[in-house]
Amino acid sequence: MKSSFKIFSISGIPVELHISFLLLILVIFLFAFLGIFTLYVAFLIVLLFVTVVIHEFSHSYVAKRYGVPVERIILLPIGGVSAMGEIPKNPGQELNIAIAGPLTNIIIAFICLLGLFITGGIGSLSISSFFISNTPNADINLFLSNFLGINLVLGVFNLLPAFPMDGGRVLRAFLARKMSYVKATKTAASIGKQFAILMAIFGIFFNFILILVAIFIYIGADQEYKAIMVSSMLEGLLVKDIMTRNVATLTPDTPVTEALNIMFKQRHMGYPVMEGNNLVGIITFDDVSRVPEDKRNFPVKDIMSKNLILANPEEPVFNTFEKISRNNIGRLPVTENGRLVGIISKTDIMKVLEMMDAESAR
Ligand code: ZN
Repeated sequence: MKSSFKIFSISGIPVELHISFLLLILVIFLFAFLGIFTLYVAFLIVLLFVTVVIHEFSHSYVAKRYGVPVERIILLPIGGVSAMGEIPKNPGQELNIAIAGPLTNIIIAFICLLGLFITGGIGSLSISSFFISNTPNADINLFLSNFLGINLVLGVFNLLPAFPMDGGRVLRAFLARKMSYVKATKTAASIGKQFAILMAIFGIFFNFILILVAIFIYIGADQEYKAIMVSSMLEGLLVKDIMTRNVATLTPDTPVTEALNIMFKQRHMGYPVMEGNNLVGIITFDDVSRVPEDKRNFPVKDIMSKNLILANPEEPVFNTFEKISRNNIGRLPVTENGRLVGIISKTDIMKVLEMMDAESAR
């Protein structure tokens, strides 16, 4: 099932709404309907998500200009995510991509401030006017103050120097000018973790929400660190170095029951399906076992995956690992000039990582 669906696109980048977002919309409307929220608050919540889209779009726009493929922007109830290809390990470009989001928010906040000067509402501006109040009679000044507040908080929060916030990336980009990318990531991740610990301690005394944010930051810093360790451990390793060369294959007309027997006997979880010398599909144990036992009297070609994601023997393993993770699949057929030359699985890559990890710990 698709977990998100497209609502519109801006300059070729689809903006998708995650399914869980519908629940949030429902809650907003219910609260507005019950009078817990005024319509103004419901409007501000919608505006908050428009602001998140603008923020994500700013990252994506700059990334696209550097030739990074941007697949889509997904809106979740907790914020937005830009799904893009690998960000260049070029500190200058990474810095610009990372800073584009918060910078846009700060510019919008500044425009609101100018607006308040023009409307004359600047005099009434105070910290408390940033907070969203459940008032039935909102005016332009309140709106400008609230919009200023939303953008300022979003901009500043994202500039915190910790992964997964943009500020963590900005920090890494700065560090990467003086040291290797891996070392910069390690350093930025550990600064982020220390920052999270400080924040949690601060939260104990002042605000419990800060503890939740701190946990989120700590986990984010750790994940980023692991991702970069994986990429550095796999550095220089090519698909041809670890792929399985003698690939067991099936023909399109192999009955599903027979395919299952072969899988049990040979203990492979996936088989490329070959018609003569042509790769026409891939069939996995999952595909087969999903078919009810009494309905397995048809050939594998009826249930095999035909949209194949392929690997190339000369491709870096890290690339393949990303393709496998992103598409949530177990294995990729490896082809060279249209000819099947091997197969590479997630398990193969995990084994290599385990061995490297054990090696480095010795
Ligand atoms: Zn951002």
